[in-house]
Amino acid sequence: MESVYISIGSNRGNRVAMCKEAVRRMDEFKDTTVVSRSALYETEPVGLITQGLFINCVVELSTSLRPLELLGQLKEIEVDLGRVRSKRWGPRLIDLDILFYDTEVIDEEGLSVPHREAANRAFVLVPMAEIAGTFIHPQLGRSIVELASEVEGASGVKRYEGE
Ligand code: ATP
Ligand code: MG
Ligand code: MG
Repeated sequence: MESVYISIGSNRGNRVAMCKEAVRRMDEFKDTTVVSRSALYETEPVGLITQGLFINCVVELSTSLRPLELLGQLKEIEVDLGRVRSKRWGPRLIDLDILFYDTEVIDEEGLSVPHREAANRAFVLVPMAEIAGTFIHPQLGRSIVELASEVEGASGVKRYEGE
């Protein structure tokens, strides 16, 4: 079994329900358990700023699914939950990204792990610091807590109390 971290984000529809439903469905993957989930955070959009605030969280999975298999299953959830493919970084019902797959480094067509932007995104680092602060980024050799303490935009990531 491998330890895997997934970033969840939603900024349309019932954002909280979307995130929770995605977690529930991940727990139903073959040979997979959701080990922990961060709190929910409300975050300012990155990129296209003329869109609504996101709800974000990070979950840890324990899984024996291989990375591409896992990515395929995550994409199925995105489609099932009605994600409309539109602009990259644009509004979406649900976005599920693989942040880390244990300490593996993968650079394939359609899958880069660690996620290329993981270390630059406050909406990833702040929630992940809560559940896996001592995890070491395998390419940077630095912990999630260290990266979170330096990332730009952390003030735009706030605990969401409406769970
Ligand atoms: P970003 O990757 O900057 O967060 P995004 O999540 O909006 O952007 P998507 O439209 O969800 O981008 O995905 C575009 C493609 O990225 C997907 O089809 C997928 O194959 C690819 N991809 C590459 N690496 C990953 C990863 N680690 N997790 C999820 N998708 C990935
Ligand atoms: Mg994304
Ligand atoms: Mg994505």
